[in-house]
Amino acid sequence: MSDCIFCRIAAGEIPAELVYEDDLVLGFRDLSPQAPTHVLIIPRKHIATLNDLQPEDEAIVGRLYSAAAQIAAREGLAERGYRTLINCNADGGQTVFHLHLHLLGGRQMNWPPG
Ligand code: AMP
Repeated sequence: MSDCIFCRIAAGEIPAELVYEDDLVLGFRDLSPQAPTHVLIIPRKHIATLNDLQPEDEAIVGRLYSAAAQIAAREGLAERGYRTLINCNADGGQTVFHLHLHLLGGRQMNWPPG
């Protein structure tokens, strides 16, 4: 989608600090990091929200998480731990309507989240 900022990052039209790339997903650093490591992992395919997932997208979701684990290992977070999360729609705090998995680490996470 030409008006989707994350589609434009995936297409290389908007710069981002890429940390991971494969045939289904890519990972890049969040512009406004909420932790020492804050990476967004997105599908190349435009999927607006978690509500819009189709059965054929299940491999993509699996890949989002396996990419997150690989990035966490590379960033030295695996042992200490980290958090992954997906915000959905207004109450979930979603602001960019292209599915993305947040990977946050490098500090103690709080629970419950805000
Ligand atoms: P969410 O609130 O879950 O939709 O998360 C959207 C995230 O995208 C926020 O953490 C923003 O800081 C981040 N973000 C927005 N635009 C960009 C961009 N151009 N490059 C990197 N991160 C971005």
